[in-house]
Amino acid sequence: MSPSLHTIAIVLILGTTTCAHGAELPIFDAHIHYNQDVWEVVPPKEAIALLRKAGMVRALVSSSSDDGTQKLYAEAPDLIIPELRPYRTSGEISSWVHDESIIVHVKDRLKKYKYVALGEFHVSGAKADLLVVRLIVQLAKQHGLMLHAHSDADAVERMFRQDPEARILWAHAGYEQPPRVREMLHRYKNLWVELSSRPDIAPKGHVEAEWRELFLEFPDRFMVGTDTFTTERWNVVGSNASSVRKWLAELPVEVAEHIAYKNGESLLTAGFSTRR
Ligand SMILES: [Zn+2]
Repeated sequence: MSPSLHTIAIVLILGTTTCAHGAELPIFDAHIHYNQDVWEVVPPKEAIALLRKAGMVRALVSSSSDDGTQKLYAEAPDLIIPELRPYRTSGEISSWVHDESIIVHVKDRLKKYKYVALGEFHVSGAKADLLVVRLIVQLAKQHGLMLHAHSDADAVERMFRQDPEARILWAHAGYEQPPRVREMLHRYKNLWVELSSRPDIAPKGHVEAEWRELFLEFPDRFMVGTDTFTTERWNVVGSNASSVRKWLAELPVEVAEHIAYKNGESLLTAGFSTRR
């Protein structure tokens, strides 16, 4: 084993990385799901313990069904920030845009529980102009909620045309490349970008130059996340946080802190901050 591999192995075993500036960076994880198939395998107490062990100070949670989010929130209101995923089951990822009964469901949940966002939902291209998506954008406006969209740039633009004052958290940076992300951030002041499942940011453990430039240009517009969309993803909550800290440590400390947790804290904790 080479010395560098050896170091990586030690870091993985310890499950923790300190940033170049000393103390371990707290993380606001902006992309956690606690879906129905996970509830028995990783019970709520265990899920919360995994998040805390990974050094998370907050987690933006959405689940199929939303009962998963409520289970985690009941367990740790100081840690969990609930967002309302429109799906009643995981099987609705692509059908929901054609299903008006989703709106009845969402309105019902909004009456019962408190949320900071609607999402994460999946919609691409022209489908963002379908009635159900339009109604979701309107509900977000009425309730002062952010939209957490797993969408290409085209769909994000369509939602901003529906409501120019919408606030959108762009999951996975839409899997768009840095020049397109930059263009979007310049054009839309209410667009924030969440970086889960983007191995191209630091493919060899070091942050890529194009991304670095973007982070320095827009330090207030990025957040990190794990995206626990399967049971297996709960196994990598700790190691994902470690690799995120590793590339964040290559940025100026102020920028790293904003991306790690400060942006999430200032944007997504309204109404929940007193619970800490
Ligand atoms: Zn997701």
